[in-house]
Amino acid sequence: MSDIMKGKRGLVMGVANDHSIAWGIAKTLADHGAELAFTYQGEAFGRRTKPLADSVGSNLLLPCDVEDIDSVDAVFAKLKEEWGTIDFLVHAIGFSDKSELKGKYADTTRDNFSRTMVISCFSFTEITKRAAELMPNGGSIITLTYGGSTKVMPNYNVMGVAKAALESSVRYLAADYGEQDIRVNAISAGPVRTLAGSGVSDARLMFNYQKRNAPLHRTVSLEEIGGTGLYLLSDLSGGVTGEIHFVDSGYNIMSMPRLEELKT
Ligand code: NAD
Repeated sequence: MSDIMKGKRGLVMGVANDHSIAWGIAKTLADHGAELAFTYQGEAFGRRTKPLADSVGSNLLLPCDVEDIDSVDAVFAKLKEEWGTIDFLVHAIGFSDKSELKGKYADTTRDNFSRTMVISCFSFTEITKRAAELMPNGGSIITLTYGGSTKVMPNYNVMGVAKAALESSVRYLAADYGEQDIRVNAISAGPVRTLAGSGVSDARLMFNYQKRNAPLHRTVSLEEIGGTGLYLLSDLSGGVTGEIHFVDSGYNIMSMPRLEELKT
């Protein structure tokens, strides 16, 4: 492993367990020398995140529910007190009511639309603003998105609409913070078996379909997403901002299923 992140400190938000995409990225960053702080949502996830944080030598593990802005403010106040500044941030947070991740998008309720947008999209703007205040020497920020933002994926529904807004936020925030040398990018990951991923109805069918039809004929690993996280959060990607970077075995380039699939 390299020392490419040595001397860099950052916050990872969105670890629920060792299958979380945020954990894949955190582990890779730590393996390359980064010093990490984590947030967790609720005590149950806190208990699962603690041993993971311990395993990478982190003793900054803070509660945070993005629906409660005071808890977000408390996280950044603590980081300021402990570290003064940060170099990077990972936002890997998404939520929508499971009962609306099936059937028709048109049936989305006003309440769940608002909640999904606040947690899965607007939280990124609120968090980026606070993180930027702790980045006087520049920095790098990433979020996680999915191809259901620009193309219709069955059952992804309101999450697809939230991801479209999230991707647009990435571009606006990249423009806002470019002068401060803060880069803002997103990783658009292919399907991964996680808690959030399994909330989408028929997730297993989509997972297997993408596996069969992606150019690489497989889904992606947490390590592969972690590698792209490392690239985007390190100086290796200096000059890259406002990008939506696919890590999906190439699935997004296909316009139709493989011929073999059509013949079966
Ligand atoms: P996960 O369930 O491991 O992580 C989702 C995280 O969101 C959890 O840690 C959860 O605590 C957090 N969260 C939800 N509501 C929150 C709130 N109100 N306050 C604070 N945290 C909250 O699942 P994951 O798949 O690793 O998801 C991480 C990100 O990756 C999400 O944005 C998801 O949409 C995105 N993503 C997932 C996939 C996939 O197939 N799993 C593909 C592309 C993008």
